[in-house]
Amino acid sequence: MPLSPDASPRELIETLRALGGRGYIVRRASGGIEASHPELESLAQLCREDTRDFLDHEAVFMAVGPESGALFGAFVHRTCRGQGAGGLRHWPYPSVEAWLRDGLRLSAGMTRKNAVAGLWWGGGKGIIARDETADWRARDYRNRLYAEYGRFVSSLQGCYVTAEDAGTTPPDMAAVFTNTRHTTCIPPDFGGSGNPSGPTARGVICAMEGALDALGRGSLAGKVVAMQGAGNVATYMMRGLLERKVAKIIACDIDERRITMLRDEFAGAPVELRVSTPEDISIFAAPCDVFAPNALGGVLNPETIPMLQTELVCGAANNQLLDDRRDMQALRDRGITYVPDFVANRMGIVNCANEGYGEVHEDPAIERHLGREWTNSVFNATQRVLARAKRDHISTAQAANTIADELAAELHPIWGHRGLQIIESLVAQGWARPSSN
Ligand code: NAD
Repeated sequence: MPLSPDASPRELIETLRALGGRGYIVRRASGGIEASHPELESLAQLCREDTRDFLDHEAVFMAVGPESGALFGAFVHRTCRGQGAGGLRHWPYPSVEAWLRDGLRLSAGMTRKNAVAGLWWGGGKGIIARDETADWRARDYRNRLYAEYGRFVSSLQGCYVTAEDAGTTPPDMAAVFTNTRHTTCIPPDFGGSGNPSGPTARGVICAMEGALDALGRGSLAGKVVAMQGAGNVATYMMRGLLERKVAKIIACDIDERRITMLRDEFAGAPVELRVSTPEDISIFAAPCDVFAPNALGGVLNPETIPMLQTELVCGAANNQLLDDRRDMQALRDRGITYVPDFVANRMGIVNCANEGYGEVHEDPAIERHLGREWTNSVFNATQRVLARAKRDHISTAQAANTIADELAAELHPIWGHRGLQIIESLVAQGWARPSSN
């Protein structure tokens, strides 16, 4: 019996167990989309028929953690520029379809983010469906879970290279690293790049500067910046904005302890810190020159967009638009310029993606993204996106996607379409046959 996409992740786990623990959906060289087993055919069919989240992905690999019993996914979108690289999300999902769609959408987003950043990496994403019945916060459980995920990544022979993402921490990545070389964002003690929040904040500030300049609004000096979320990235952003002499920062967070801590740090500075609740969206009505979504995705929607009192939205959160087309149009109708998230927040992946090539103090390979000389810097890429949107009378999201898709089709100068070769090789070797586990 094929598994229904409405099934729960638990049912997919049981199905995979019965199949020997592994399964996949791949796009063959002929263009056809194949499932490893008839039981997964309905998921392949969903991919064939979908026009929103399935964008000719190269592969979706799935497996059950042998001891943890958790559902592991590796989503590989496009590997022309290099192997699929992107973070590992540990998140709860109500259904297999929700899990599949999240992985498809996020991995395609990584292809675009990596391409616009000029990285020689393709797009991928890892997902562990969080098992709410397990003690998933416990260090012991996590160490085992992430070590198992590392083994899963190793089995994929490098077509997917993992990293940190929502729900995953540096100690988790250290556990992944115990079983695979195909990971980044490992702690500095193991030769990794550590916390990316500082560079991410600097990148978003460069995007704000690029956009303000393109709009003829000058620099950040004297501007008011409002932000939802006062977490890791936002805190570095506040420091950077104050250095640039902004007139005022207004930030809210649902974490009262964090706000108390920041009130101490920014005492005497023009920073207004508000404690909010998950339902409280009043920050969207704060009059400002730049609004930065720095907490969650999906926050630009029919409820919040009419509230905005700004000309520019530019922040760190991934997938800020709840519905890409509808909400982008609503922003355009209101004359609000939107810097697509993957253009602004690239530095998280830039900071870790090439850590295997070693580290240089104030690394020029990183710093060039944050300057104005390199044509591909955040500042210049932001301006290119805005200029393309204006020239072609399209939205900034369409312009960014078009530019990204052109770049994503370029082949890695040395290794060509290596990721696809690896996928073909895994299929030929019978990766999903029980005997290969
Ligand atoms: P974080 O968890 O440190 O900060 C997020 C903050 O948002 C938390 O303090 C949380 O309490 C707050 N928050 C959650 N819901 C809220 C709500 N409804 N209203 C107000 N505040 C709320 O995460 P971070 O590392 O600072 O990342 C922020 C965003 O940027 C995330 O969406 C993340 O995916 C994205 N991002 C981060 C990086 C990075 O380098 N850390 C890179 C790229 C993208």
